[in-house]
Formats: sequence, structure tokens, C-alpha cells
Amino acid sequence: MQLIQNYVNGKIVGPRSDAYLDNFEPATGEVYSQIADSDERDVQLAIDAAKAAFPAWSNTSAEDRFAILMRLCGLIERDLEALAQAESRDNGKPVTLARSIDIPRAIANFRFYATAAMHLSNESHETVGRNAINYTLRQPLGVVGCISPWNLPLYLFTWKIAPAIAAGCTVVAKPSEVTPMTAYMLSKLCIEAGLPPGVLNIVHGLGPKVGSAIVAHRDTKAISFTGGTKTGEEIARVAAPMFKKLSLELGGKNPNIIFADCDYDEMLATTIRSSFSNQGEICLCGSRIFVERPIYERFRTDFVERVGKLKVGDPKDETTDVGAIVSKQHFDKIMSYIELAQAEGGTILCGGHKSEPPALASGQSDGTAANWPPANAGGSDGIGGFFIEPTVIEGLPHDCRTNQEEIFGPVVTIMPFDTEDEVLAYANSVRYGLSATVWTENLSRAHRMAAALESGIVWINCWLLRDLRTPFGGVKDSGLGREGGFEALRFFTEEKNVCLKI
Ligand code: NAD
Repeated sequence: MQLIQNYVNGKIVGPRSDAYLDNFEPATGEVYSQIADSDERDVQLAIDAAKAAFPAWSNTSAEDRFAILMRLCGLIERDLEALAQAESRDNGKPVTLARSIDIPRAIANFRFYATAAMHLSNESHETVGRNAINYTLRQPLGVVGCISPWNLPLYLFTWKIAPAIAAGCTVVAKPSEVTPMTAYMLSKLCIEAGLPPGVLNIVHGLGPKVGSAIVAHRDTKAISFTGGTKTGEEIARVAAPMFKKLSLELGGKNPNIIFADCDYDEMLATTIRSSFSNQGEICLCGSRIFVERPIYERFRTDFVERVGKLKVGDPKDETTDVGAIVSKQHFDKIMSYIELAQAEGGTILCGGHKSEPPALASGQSDGTAANWPPANAGGSDGIGGFFIEPTVIEGLPHDCRTNQEEIFGPVVTIMPFDTEDEVLAYANSVRYGLSATVWTENLSRAHRMAAALESGIVWINCWLLRDLRTPFGGVKDSGLGREGGFEALRFFTEEKNVCLKI
């Protein structure tokens, strides 16, 4: 069985413990590889390597960093198909999505920061009348920690690593233990690209063992984390007394607000995507759909009809719209929220059940319909793969638990509203504030809503239309700080002002 090992000091190495964890394939529920069960000893080795690499790397010219990162881009591009297949198998997402979004975005992340590093400039201030000039140095922090989640594995992993390396830092990184495969493949590409040993170190394993050791270590100067709010709280608790810089991208419960004057067809098509792309496992998905009353009935009918046509199936199948849920644990969590919604008085308009596992295409496992479920099935009720029908629920108040807590799956609620003030109150009633979507052709209303919504990102008449130069992040319990653009490069540097009297 394939072993997923650490990447430390330029080499692929096993964990000090010699222990491995099972890595499951969500579409079959079967173990298909094993991942290093690392601990603080492996983290220490990685930090030692990163510290040793820092003086040389931080003194490498921006042009040289650019050249290495662009080489890495070329290698990811060369292996795009293999990486997409691996991402789909590891996460359960449709391969079409991994091929069109996840892996191209990993390439874009490296390319964006390879070039951005060449354009980062420092300020200077002429202090007129006092014969002085101030200039500000922007120096890389040193060793930094990057910790990422399972929903967009290589996409979010590289979104952190690329600016850190480009800024001149050296990195100890931990991908999610639920989806480690593409990070492992990346480590091999880093070796091939000639990234100097120790510049990037990848330690695999469990969050409370590996992630917490990275956060707790005195020598990691900053932590860039994407994941759940609860984990973010724990990281902040440990890191704050050491005054580490923190970038925390956390959970969401995003509103999708639909006014009657919207471009209806465009809204409907996009709302299908914003609800169920990646099985609803995108932090930006709009899980609370508020519809202005004059078009509520029409929307309800059309939306449910369209959702019912989504094909839940084998992630490898090119025609699949909705793949497998990432893990048994997450599958159980989502199903428990569907039960809760019903207990809270919600009506399920479509979906609501686990989906029968599809007949999987051959060549990757023996999980065909004929021998289903596999003997060691990890799924609920003896079912191997973790599939859930896209689910639409109505009849719930905005303040019930179903509408307040993050579900992070193919489950949305729909609710009517009458006025702008009312829907703003509903939208802002949650502890989260990551993103919001507004559909209206009324320009003044669009600006009013954008200003009043408590969220870090507002999409108007679109969703997930990304420009990597823009600040990305949430307010309230959705996090701290912003990723993207020069902001991320600045995060990985420390400013030092020099005042020179002439
Ligand atoms: P998670 O918090 O369970 O895990 C994220 C990462 O943190 C993993 O690598 C995990 O091993 C590690 N970790 C766990 N405990 C740790 C600890 N004590 N110290 C340090 N590291 C630790 O999150 P998840 O389940 O992998 O991801 C889903 C969550 O991520 C959702 O809440 C989702 O909204 C959020 N998310 C947010 C964004 C964003 O940009 N705001 C993007 C994607 C996902």
C-alpha cells in the first residue's frame, strides 16, 4: 500500500514513530494508502531544517525565487491530470472539478506570488524640515507554519505556502490528514524543481499532534491557518502569548440574498453552483438562501427541480456533479444536521438521504456495484462510499440551529423575506461573517447591502469570481486577517523603520 511520507530538509522521510494512519477513499470507504503519523519530533526536525535554510533563502534574490517557483508551476502543469485524479480520489470531489479548479488554482497561486515577489516595494518618507529620511525595510519573518484543511487540499495548501516562500520565509507545513495525497506529490515536485532543502518542509499527521506542535513551537514566527473556527480558537489561545503573527481563515454560514429584480436565469444557475459545488464543502458556499417573497414560489419550484437533476456519482465519472463526502465522520455530521433540521420543524423539499453508492468505474478499486459494499466498508449502515443527496430544506426560522451552525455539506435552507432591513437582520444574525451573495439589478440597493452586510467578502450578481489581488478573509468568528494580493506577502514579513538624519 502506498505510503505518504514527510518532506524534510529536501528528502522524503518516514515519521520518527514509524507509525502510519489509514487514508480512506471517500467514494468507496476503503483504505487505499497510509499516511505518516508524525509527532513533535518530526516537527522539530522540520523546524531545524527550515531554520538552517532561512539565511540563504531570505538572501536569495526575488528573481531567483521567481525562477524556482515558476519551475514548480511548470511541473504541476505537466502533472495536472495525475494531480487532479489524485485529488478527486483522496477528497471525493468530481475529477472534473479538480481538473478545472483545484489544480489550476494551485498553479495560479505559485505563479501569482512568484511574480508578486518581484513587485513588492518598500516605502520611504522624507521628513521635510528636520533633515531626515525614513525608510521601511520589509524583512521575511523566518520560519513560519502553514496549516490547511481538506476541502480544497492543494488549492489552499499552496495559497499559504506560495506567498510565504516568495516572501523569503522558510516553511513547516501541514496538510489535512484527511486529504494528504497531493501535498505528498507536491513535495516530490519541489525536489524536482530544485527548491533548496529546508525551504519547504511538509509534516503529515494529526492536528492535535503535528499542527499543535507547529503552533506551540517558539521558532515558528507566524501561523497561517485555514480550518474550523474551534481549531482557530485553540491556535489563537496557544499562539497569542508568544505574540506570533496569525492569519486565521475559519468557518462560515454564508447568506445568499435573492431580490425579485435579479437576473433570474443567471441567479438560478449560479445558486446551484454556490450551494452544491464540491458537495457544498467550500467555505464560501451560500447555505442560507433568502428569497424576496414575490419570486419565492417560482424560485422554490425551479430550484428544487434543478437540484433534483444533479447527478450524484462516482467522482471519476466525467458527468458527475456531486461526488462523495470527504469522510465518514463528516458524512455523519451532515446527516445529523439533516435530522436536526427536521426536528426543528423543517420540511425537506428534495434530498435528505444518504445516496446509494454509484457503480464505480473500474481501475481504481474493486468497489463495483456487484461487490458492494466492500468488506471493510467504513460508511454508515454498511454502505461503503459517503454520498449524500443534495438537500433543500424550507420552513425554518433564521435563528434555529440549522440556520446558525456551519454544516459544510450539500444542504441548504430557503426562506422568504419582505424587506431589505429584515433580510439584513437575518443575514447578520450568525456568529460567522465570511462571505455573502446578493442578487439584484438595483445598483443603489447593491451598494447599500454590500456596506451593511457583516462579512469579509460580498459577491454581487456572481459567486466565487476570484481575483487573487483582492483581500480574502472573514469578520466575526470567520477569522482574522486577510490572504491574497500583497497582503499575504506583507503578512510573512516584518516591517522595520530606519530613520536617517542627514
Ligand atoms: P479543522 O480545523 O478540523 O482542520 C484544519 C487543519 O488544522 C487540519 O490540517 C488539522 O489537522 C489541523 N488541526 C487540527 N487541530 C489542530 C490543532 N489543535 N492545532 C493545529 N492544527 C490543528 O478543519 P477541517 O475540518 O479540515 O476543514 C473544514 C473547516 O475549514 C470548515 O469550518 C470550513 O469553513 C473551514 N474553511 C475555511 C476557509 C476560509 O477560507 N475561511 C476555507 C476552507 C475551509
